[in-house]
Amino acid sequence: MLTDKVVLVTGAASGIGRAIALVAAREGALLVLADLDPHAGNETLRQVRDLGTEALFATSDVGQPDDAQALVDQTMVHFGRLDVACNNAGIGGPSALLADYPLDGWAQVINVNLSGVFFGMRCQIPALLRSGGGAIVNVASILGAVGFATAAAYTAAKHGVLGLTQAAALEYSAQGVRINAVGPGFIRTPMISALDADPAVHAALVAAHPIGRLGLPEEVAELVVWLASTRASFVTGSYHPVDGGYLAR
Ligand code: NAD
Repeated sequence: MLTDKVVLVTGAASGIGRAIALVAAREGALLVLADLDPHAGNETLRQVRDLGTEALFATSDVGQPDDAQALVDQTMVHFGRLDVACNNAGIGGPSALLADYPLDGWAQVINVNLSGVFFGMRCQIPALLRSGGGAIVNVASILGAVGFATAAAYTAAKHGVLGLTQAAALEYSAQGVRINAVGPGFIRTPMISALDADPAVHAALVAAHPIGRLGLPEEVAELVVWLASTRASFVTGSYHPVDGGYLAR
């Protein structure tokens, strides 16, 4: 589905980002992997290279506009083009009622989860246009569509990602850049492992998904890769849950 396409993935050192990298590699992509964590990022690099994929890893903070530009510049120098960008990096942030929500936690979650997608897209879009078009897939959340108590910043940031996705799609779809968002339900990754370790919380999370279990990173990655591919050629500006039925309740 992505043969010889240059695919950039943020948050590629773990969880959903690593799964996107591996599924994209299986589908023939050339990869630019980025993350704050160089040790785990280089492990993803090793895994995709084991599949025979040409790839590079860059330590890069999505919350820093200069890092976002440097990442796209490095992509263009190394591969000469950019075809797909997956803005996946994110953090959970503090768990607190709104009136007690720490200001520094609010600022950090908004910076990484919302501004990080904006910083990324504003650098990626010119490179995609110079490459003749392509696709962006932003990893939002079910919490981009509904609320979640004690997660005000995360919920607000992910709702913002949907708005950014739609605004950008209105601006660039006619020029050949399709821009979509996916909304994972609760997925078994390190992001939720502390929460999920409590048996009572685990049971409540499972019960919230009509399919009767939490999701796997690969199940999100399959949708991301499909949206990134030309098989999704008439799909833009839209939000795609991959949530085991969470939003159907
Ligand atoms: P994860 O913690 O396993 O991986 C997140 C990765 O992002 C890590 O490698 C981390 O180092 C990286 N990262 C964090 N801040 C960064 C920054 N400022 N710059 C660059 N990289 C940074 O989490 P995950 O579950 O794989 O989450 C991936 C995305 O999926 C996130 O946007 C998250 O909000 C979203 N999501 C996750 C779930 C879930 O249940 N796991 C549900 C819905 C949405």
